Amino acid sequence: KILDNKVALVTGAGSGIGLAIAKLYAKEGAKVIVSDINEEHGKSVVEQIKSEGGEATFVKADTSNPEQVEALVNATVEAYGRLDIACNNAGIGGEANQTGDYSLDGWKKVIDINLDGVFYGCKYELTQMQKNGGGVIVNIASIHGTVAAPLSSAYTSTKHAVVGLTKNIGAEYGQKNIRCNAVGPGYIDTPLLNQLDEEHKKALIAKHPMGRLGKSEEVAELVLFLSSDKSSFMTGGYYLVDGGYTAV
Ligand code: NAD
Repeated sequence: KILDNKVALVTGAGSGIGLAIAKLYAKEGAKVIVSDINEEHGKSVVEQIKSEGGEATFVKADTSNPEQVEALVNATVEAYGRLDIACNNAGIGGEANQTGDYSLDGWKKVIDINLDGVFYGCKYELTQMQKNGGGVIVNIASIHGTVAAPLSSAYTSTKHAVVGLTKNIGAEYGQKNIRCNAVGPGYIDTPLLNQLDEEHKKALIAKHPMGRLGKSEEVAELVLFLSSDKSSFMTGGYYLVDGGYTAV
């Protein structure tokens, strides 16, 4: 298995893309810290992983809170002795409004989770990875790390920023045996899209040349590759898994 003996941490692992990543990491032999703000969902993912013969532990953390993120990394080391792989996945869609009408609180909420939360994750993960001699970080951005999402300025801004943060870490840690890459999924069929009505969903599907939404498992395969030694010369990059969305 390609992640045998690795210790991996996934934020927002109680649902959707994070859930699929946690399950795939475990299937490939990693010991997985399943973290989420939603305890019930996170614990149920741990049960699923264990019932399939994998190893996992739930740790509750709100990624927008730096103390909780630091405690999450410490809990990982307490549970499994080190941290090799971290996937900063937790994120929200946020308010839908034209930029001029976007509420100040709505803006701040998206920045707190989608940008600050990813920074806090990287900060404490990097500190721990330096202690254990190396590691890999995968940040979940979006196609909106490179193209607009009308009515979601805060989302687009944070996802572009995550791509920038990822490049900086690639530049800074290239010689420290720590790699960091970002992933840009197109629209993926997860509970995040529940806020959209059917008409809006259809319009989104039409924007993907493949004529469908993506599956969480399809994103997880790219994340697994970027988390494994198979991507050993890749850092500071941004990789799409978008059914062709950004090609047209
Ligand atoms: P989801 O809503 O299914 O799952 C997100 C999980 O994150 C939930 O379990 C939620 O409880 C958790 N979470 C939310 N806020 C948190 C916080 N402050 N601290 C800790 N956990 C928190 O969403 P998803 O579609 O699986 O999205 C996961 C990531 O993928 C997000 O960063 C999202 O922006 C990104 N993404 C999603 C899509 C898509 O179409 N679904 C496309 C591109 C990128």
